[in-house]
Amino acid sequence: MINLDANANYSLIQEIVEFLKELKPIGNPSSVHALGQHARALIEEARLRVGRVLNLNPSDRVVFTSGATESNNTAIHSALYGLPLTSISVVTSSIEHPCVLECLESFRRGGAAIRLITPKDPQRFSPSDFLSCIDASTKFVSVMLANNETGHILPVAQIFSEIRRLYPQVILHCDAAQALGKIPVDFQSIGADLLSISAHKIGALCGVGALVIRAGYSLTPLIVGGSQELRLRAGTENVIGIASFGIACAVLEREFQQRVAHMQHARDRLRAEIRAMVPEAHFTLSDSCACLPNTLSVRLPGVRADDLVIALDLEGIAASSGAACSSGKQLPSHVLMALGLSEDAARQTVRFSFEGRALANLGAITNTITRVIRNFYEQSKSR
Ligand code: PLP
Repeated sequence: MINLDANANYSLIQEIVEFLKELKPIGNPSSVHALGQHARALIEEARLRVGRVLNLNPSDRVVFTSGATESNNTAIHSALYGLPLTSISVVTSSIEHPCVLECLESFRRGGAAIRLITPKDPQRFSPSDFLSCIDASTKFVSVMLANNETGHILPVAQIFSEIRRLYPQVILHCDAAQALGKIPVDFQSIGADLLSISAHKIGALCGVGALVIRAGYSLTPLIVGGSQELRLRAGTENVIGIASFGIACAVLEREFQQRVAHMQHARDRLRAEIRAMVPEAHFTLSDSCACLPNTLSVRLPGVRADDLVIALDLEGIAASSGAACSSGKQLPSHVLMALGLSEDAARQTVRFSFEGRALANLGAITNTITRVIRNFYEQSKSR
């Protein structure tokens, strides 16, 4: 199976497969005996590795979580905890992941003001889209660094530096789950108080993530009842998952440029092939847009993306119609609709997202994709 759905899940990298094969017995990392201390060492090494790949200062903190969903929920709850609901004013983008939007929605139902920013130009978000909506009443701003469905890269560093200058009281959070591994993610340059990442988006095990906390920021934990993770996230740690996250970060540090080159080459080749063979196709983002190097979102008028994904699956190619985290639910993508697509158009949009590996049979893969798409158009003509 060829994974062109890397934004949903990046296949386990070989270094982690080897690590799992050679894994020695581990204990509970809170235990004092040798088994416990072995587990503790794996976690602390992973913490350093995550810190290195994100260019953290020694006093910034990394708290391991169960994934970016939990990191995002923790960031929001921590920022808004204890405030009278009607005094809360939050700004975020309309294309955030549902784990941000639905968490904020629960505060909105209680009386908080949540402003969702939709860009004036659907091709690109500009800092002014956000800055014009922020004022002295704003408590919290959450902006994703890259969107999982379209690949949009948002100008988070510029937005945050301007907010910091004008409104230093605002707590700034960035969801970098989809950016890590595809574009540089430098915590210092982003200027966030809190930043969320996810292990399975860079080739580590599922069910692990991290929340990065700027030095001096006082986090209110979401999950309590234990002293694990610097007392900021209770519960026995997912030691093997965390260790795999550390390994994936170390590999990423080494191979970042190479991965990006592979992604970009494959994505560009597929785009060129579709452009040549499928004149009906509309690309969601233009070639000049700030976009993840691995993501291609394309609308095929008249073709249901769900049907296309099934047809490609039968050919051994995994792609996605809408966000994978929400696949199985029948709603059209909130991201595409926020960018101005109709419900029908959103349901005709398919996403290809590449891993950063060389694909020896790239030509055959792109041929198969365009052949399968063309079949849909030929069949509809003959009906
Ligand atoms: N944020 C973004 C932008 C994502 O793309 C995802 C998953 O697709 C998440 C958060 C949730 O990550 P996790 O699966 O680690 O909970």
